[in-house]
Amino acid sequence: MTGQPWTAQVLTLYPGMFPGPLGASLAGKAEAEGRWRLHTINIRDHAVDKHRTVDDSPCGGGAGMVMRADVVDSALAEAEEETPGLPAIFLTPRGRLITQARVRELAAGPGVTLLCGRFEGVDQRVIDARGLEELSLGDFVLSGGEPAAIALIDACVRLLPGVVGEPASVVEESFSDDLLEYPHYTKPQEWQGRMVPDVLLSGHHENVRAWRQAESERATQVRRPDLWARYQPRPRPAPKRKRTNT
Ligand code: SAH
Repeated sequence: MTGQPWTAQVLTLYPGMFPGPLGASLAGKAEAEGRWRLHTINIRDHAVDKHRTVDDSPCGGGAGMVMRADVVDSALAEAEEETPGLPAIFLTPRGRLITQARVRELAAGPGVTLLCGRFEGVDQRVIDARGLEELSLGDFVLSGGEPAAIALIDACVRLLPGVVGEPASVVEESFSDDLLEYPHYTKPQEWQGRMVPDVLLSGHHENVRAWRQAESERATQVRRPDLWARYQPRPRPAPKRKRTNT
């Protein structure tokens, strides 16, 4: 391996939340093997006053506090100095949704710098000035960006070479082709009166493949019409009709 392994740099007010779940299982083992590394930066270390203030009240009024641009900027400068050239992302419900396609791109690069917000969020000027990409974990509100950072790092790390034992399992899975994955079954053949679908025990590979494809399509159509609309060949626009005034 040349140079640094894939690097996750996390800017947070709660460095104690890391590695957290990333220290166990696949990700933890992969870090121990040197396949990736984690570097946390405590945003509070960049406070400039004796009270170590990182936030202030929102301009325009309203509830809550906002993380200060100068403090966050200084933390981002440390990140850039520590590991230059990583894409920098602010985790926020205002961001575009994290997709498997973006995860693949990030995993193929040198790593990622992640800014975790707290309170009402971060002063927009430092997000703009640093050109941060804004990404969201989903259409719900967390109390902080840390769980989103952990989720994004986990999704990237499992795609790094040598992390998941069987590479086929990361190729043929949900979202790889805009479809949800088919359902899984294991032995025994009957459990509480419920049977494993016959086709999966038939040993007929082509029928198994066709069944799985059909199940993927059915689940996507019902559960995720947004994905289904992307998956289907785009419908041709209806021919324009001249309006006739009656
Ligand atoms: N007032 C904000 C929510 C603040 S929640 C709003 O309504 O948009 C505090 C912090 O948690 C955010 O700054 C962000 O870093 C993080 N966070 C909350 N929900 C998130 C989500 N769905 N995805 C990623 N980060 C999120």
